[in-house]
Amino acid sequence: MLVRGVVFRLDSDLPTEAKFLFEDFRLAVNNAIRAGLQARVTSRNALVKIAYKDFREQHPRMYAKHLVSAFEVACGILKNHRKRFRKGFTMRIPFVKRLMMKADNQAYKLDRKSGVIDLPIRAGCHVELRLIVSQYHRKYLDDTALTLGSLTVLPDRVVVAFRKAAPGHYTPASVLSLDTNERSLDGVFVEGDVAKAIKAEFPDIAIIQQRHHDRRSKLQKKKTHDRRTSKNLCRKEGTREHHRIDYRLHQVANSVLKFAEERRSAIVLEDLKGMRPKRSKELNRRLSMWPRRKLHQIIEYKAQWKGIPVVKVDPRNSSRTCPICGRIQDSRMGAEFECECGWHMDRHINASINLLQTAISKGMAGGLRFNPGAFQHDVMMILYEPAMAARSEPNGTSGIAVVT
Ligand SMILES: [Zn+2]
Repeated sequence: MLVRGVVFRLDSDLPTEAKFLFEDFRLAVNNAIRAGLQARVTSRNALVKIAYKDFREQHPRMYAKHLVSAFEVACGILKNHRKRFRKGFTMRIPFVKRLMMKADNQAYKLDRKSGVIDLPIRAGCHVELRLIVSQYHRKYLDDTALTLGSLTVLPDRVVVAFRKAAPGHYTPASVLSLDTNERSLDGVFVEGDVAKAIKAEFPDIAIIQQRHHDRRSKLQKKKTHDRRTSKNLCRKEGTREHHRIDYRLHQVANSVLKFAEERRSAIVLEDLKGMRPKRSKELNRRLSMWPRRKLHQIIEYKAQWKGIPVVKVDPRNSSRTCPICGRIQDSRMGAEFECECGWHMDRHINASINLLQTAISKGMAGGLRFNPGAFQHDVMMILYEPAMAARSEPNGTSGIAVVT
């Protein structure tokens, strides 16, 4: 089952009754967290067993299903806490600060035509939440293949989870192999006998990261006397940075997926799991890994939703191998990969060709082949570049640039 959370704004202020429910909900979550920690349990059923009766007696009017959802939220927080605790990241007892509530799909009704949610508060008391429905939201509301999952209500917005059974992948008619770098995705697109170089550039992500990193270290220096303020300011910086980068990553992912979907391509990516930056290098290096991982996450997740096949391969030696004769070069080279056999290619594109070869040799590219001789050296297709951020849709025809 695939789940996608869609955010809706509310048409009016939240009714007062709903605010009371929030407070009860938060109390129930925090109570359950404390009870769970004391009893050393993290499963929802165990929490219900130890905390349900007491809370029910204190809050007899709260809708029982909401209370069970509160335990589920608490259970998620406890599991997270336990993981972090074991790794030595945290000692503090977790608690929920912000007002929110979650309801499972049995505990609310959404009229998908009008966009009105009927949320029961307690016996005999329901509130109506009017959602602001845009064209984007309509896509989800009108899609009959999607069923409703849980509902998360926050003071200024709600998140509706839409679910669908994972669609089967299409049989690829072409393949798009991408090498993920700090400032770009570089790759090769193979369709029939033709292979073309492809590029999606996002140089601004590294720039944003560097800028926020500098700003954070400046903040830390300035506020050395006040760790709490410094921490808060840094967190705020971090959140802003993530938002700005996330936005761009989504755009890059969208243009890659649009391209792949139109041409029914399989996507080949390198498996970044084992890749860790060298210890000796600066923290800078560590910061630059997460956008790449995040980009892969977004691509994989969106591809799954659309039924686009994604293949992950081990990137070992992909930047040092010659795809023609198989020789592995000892040293890293410049921008151009050159081999004694005469093959030469942009270093990143060369890596993507090797990723593709690995996928093909393992039978993961759906029977497609790649013939390096068919490579059109003079064509570079641009899937994405920063200038496109200003446009709403990448323009397919003018996006093709000829490189001489
Ligand atoms: Zn060679």
